Amino acid sequence: MVKILVTDPLHEEAIKILEEIGDVEIATGLSKEELLEKIKDVDVLVVRSGTKVTRDVIEKAEKLKVIGRAGVGVDNIDVDAATEKGIIVVNAPDASSISVAELTMGLMLAAARNIPQATASLKRGEWDRKRFKGIELYGKTLGVIGLGRIGQQVVKRAKAFGMNIIGYDPYIPKEVAERLGVELVDDINELCRRSDVITLHVPLTPKTKHIIGKEQIALMKKNAIIVNCARGGLIDEKALYEALKNKKIRAAALDVFEEEPPKNNPLLTLDNVIGTPHQGASTEEAQKAAGTIVAEQIKKVLRGELAENVVNMPNIPQEKLGKLKPYMLLAELMGNIVMQVLDGSVNRVEITYSGELSKEKTDLIKRAFLKGLLSPILLAGINLVNAPVIAKNRNINVVENTTSEEKYGNAIKINAESNNKKFSIVGSIINNKPVILEVDGYEVNFIPEGVLAIIKHIDRPGTIGKVCITLGDYGINIASMQVGRKEPGGESVMLLNLDHTVPDEVIEKIKEIPNIKDVAIVNL
Ligand code: NAD
Repeated sequence: MVKILVTDPLHEEAIKILEEIGDVEIATGLSKEELLEKIKDVDVLVVRSGTKVTRDVIEKAEKLKVIGRAGVGVDNIDVDAATEKGIIVVNAPDASSISVAELTMGLMLAAARNIPQATASLKRGEWDRKRFKGIELYGKTLGVIGLGRIGQQVVKRAKAFGMNIIGYDPYIPKEVAERLGVELVDDINELCRRSDVITLHVPLTPKTKHIIGKEQIALMKKNAIIVNCARGGLIDEKALYEALKNKKIRAAALDVFEEEPPKNNPLLTLDNVIGTPHQGASTEEAQKAAGTIVAEQIKKVLRGELAENVVNMPNIPQEKLGKLKPYMLLAELMGNIVMQVLDGSVNRVEITYSGELSKEKTDLIKRAFLKGLLSPILLAGINLVNAPVIAKNRNINVVENTTSEEKYGNAIKINAESNNKKFSIVGSIINNKPVILEVDGYEVNFIPEGVLAIIKHIDRPGTIGKVCITLGDYGINIASMQVGRKEPGGESVMLLNLDHTVPDEVIEKIKEIPNIKDVAIVNL
């Protein structure tokens, strides 16, 4: 009989499904020692975010086959340790989208009509009908930042309210926006200028941190309302506080904060701020969906069926994976670099294999590449199983080729295009490590890790020096540097390994240096 251990509170419907599969033991609030003891003879472990499934827990597990995470993020699970032991990790990435979208609409309405303030006043025994006069959403422009799972659900609901919708998401193709009935704008500042209500639905990444800052808030209408049900760090809270205190914008409705729970957050002292304590996914339905989806996924894995929400993919024959594994890692890193360099809606990718790789079945390498390509812009949930489907939905056309050219031996070359940029990169495995050997046709040699700056420039004296000085002025240390050029005085590429990521302000400063053609910062 399959032994299933559930260590965080799980919806009763999910428990029912698990009981169809095997013997279920619910043991919440376990200490680390208790978990280490219990895990020994368990086949399936089901958790939410509370249980830390660390490497030592996984190593103690003698029979464990599947770990189910009833929710999206798998930060509490050591996925690498699970993969090494052949344990499949499944999650439920889509369970809360509707709940978050509904809370977004709720907060939008509440802010527009001052519902929380009016409720509090009414309960104080007041009857003030003038003070809480609001505005209608009908006919107003809604600016949606991020048109992924939740953003799209918000669009559907806002349309029912008769709102005009504009969207900012440089990574989705125009046709997807057209299908949604959203006018796509290329510039977040334009969205901020034109919107009456602004709502955020992007993941928190180095690129999206403070995506709404002082500059964006300064562009907003006097009556603008900001809603944030995504992540706290997306808005510069200091700039937001100043704007709301000085009535530069109308209101903010926040479900998430830079620090949670907020400690002495001045935003919460303002009348024109309303909020909820990170309640986006906190509905009966979302909790039920998270549990039941993950229970169904576990069922599929145990039956040997293809489960859509597999986070890792250890069930590939080990001898096969042994050969391909380093190239899968290389391809994933290359995908990550390509997306961060193109930084837009990628529409075509050509993957060319050379050497022994040209004779292999490369489907897994392609999947790993797509996983890497999509992960910088999407919330957790991209895996080797769903990456090709998500790429297809985003109109990314992927072509695979082989070549007999042996310049780099076993190597992968990527030629990729977005709406306005092209980029190529060649990588291989040298001494068991992924190495990048060409960037846009220039020969280089570096291990893809940490923070990289890829800077295209014209090879003129002083250019490199000015870049280094600019970085130095902002306290950004250069760990190593390479320059690739085809001929003296021609186009060249500068590759810098940096000790810190580079803020947008510094990127703009580098772009202003004469002879600089393009700057891309890649966080790996
Ligand atoms: P998703 O991965 O489906 O979609 C994210 C979208 O953002 C994608 O379309 C992507 O192209 C776009 N994007 C990425 N970088 C961007 C950028 N720099 N500028 C503009 N667009 C960019 O994610 P999702 O499931 O829709 O989740 C959206 C957000 O909601 C995440 O921040 C997530 O953490 C948050 N969330 C909050 C709660 C809550 O309880 N409040 C619950 C679930 C999810």
